[in-house]
Amino acid sequence: MCANVVAKGQETQVQVTGVRFHEDRGRMKLHLDLDKLPDTHNIFTLEKPHRIVIDLPSSRVSTLLSKELKARGTVRRIRYGKRNFDDLRIVLDVNGKPGVVSSRVYQFKGTNKKRLVVDLGMAPITAVEQDKPVDAADLRDIVVVIDAGHGGKDPGALGHRKTQEKEITLKIAKELYKKLKRRKGFKPVLIRDADQYLSLTERVQMARKSRADLLISIHADAFPDKAAHGSSVYALSTKKPSSRAAELLARTENQADKLFGEIAVTGSEKHLSKTLLDLAQNAVLESSIECGDVILSHLGKVTTLHKSTVEQGGFAVLRAPDVPSLLVETAFISNPREERKLRSRRYQKKMAKAMADGVVDYFMANAPPDSVIASLVVKQRG
Ligand SMILES: [Zn+2]
Repeated sequence: MCANVVAKGQETQVQVTGVRFHEDRGRMKLHLDLDKLPDTHNIFTLEKPHRIVIDLPSSRVSTLLSKELKARGTVRRIRYGKRNFDDLRIVLDVNGKPGVVSSRVYQFKGTNKKRLVVDLGMAPITAVEQDKPVDAADLRDIVVVIDAGHGGKDPGALGHRKTQEKEITLKIAKELYKKLKRRKGFKPVLIRDADQYLSLTERVQMARKSRADLLISIHADAFPDKAAHGSSVYALSTKKPSSRAAELLARTENQADKLFGEIAVTGSEKHLSKTLLDLAQNAVLESSIECGDVILSHLGKVTTLHKSTVEQGGFAVLRAPDVPSLLVETAFISNPREERKLRSRRYQKKMAKAMADGVVDYFMANAPPDSVIASLVVKQRG
């Protein structure tokens, strides 16, 4: 009889398939992705210490998710457990008394995605109230891995004046490195600092090995239409590319491995189950797009934008499942006016500065709790 009840419960259970914190206009929110809409849910706060409790009847957390349940900013700890046999309780330990905590459940238009959003009624980061000041020695720098596109036997695209993309990308990458190096709390890493060939897989592996918080791959590609101009920012698409141009470009970029190196799509990703990969990539992809938006807004101040939103395509270099990754097309080398600009030191510096400003802005708002930047933000606000 008992077995029957369990079986029935499992059938109707809501599964939490994704968990992440989201900072929205100075408020901290918790997003729970669900496989179906819950009949009801309950949220309340407790004091001494301050906690926010979310009860979801007949629900469970996907077993693949435990890695994602990481505390962030004002949320010191996140835990979950079973209640009354098959209900789920999620508890957030927070710094300070929350304001008005609110929530809503919704289904995305035109898709199957369902989400419970909880507004925690708090700023993303608040000063730690009591005990345990964070030990400054434990704080880490934010690692930004900079990839100068192409290199060595792969020259990339060619301009009219025979400018090679690989030279331009290296110059801009080095400028970006210098600019981030000067910022407290950031540790830039160059994937290549010379005219050297690396396969796309090797680039992805380097980013993962460096435990990058962000990978930026810099390009300046050609387009059949010589009039095409402006900067664009791309994130990975696991499904359909956002435009025909994004698809074409991803295909060209991915050729590098086909033309110049052996294709090795296996590597360590093989060990991750597909679902875990999808889940992790969804969260990472959302961060990539948010960061891309901030970088675009800075690029838009110094140059024309080819597209004003982050586009998506199947770029192999953006495929690290655990590193937010972006590809920046600084300008079109196939456009003679832009080729001229790309060759100028001034323009290279300007592009690097816009990217650096974007990166810094993004991480000031999304600082990992164990980072030097998070402690700087607390100081500024406190
Ligand atoms: Zn390229």
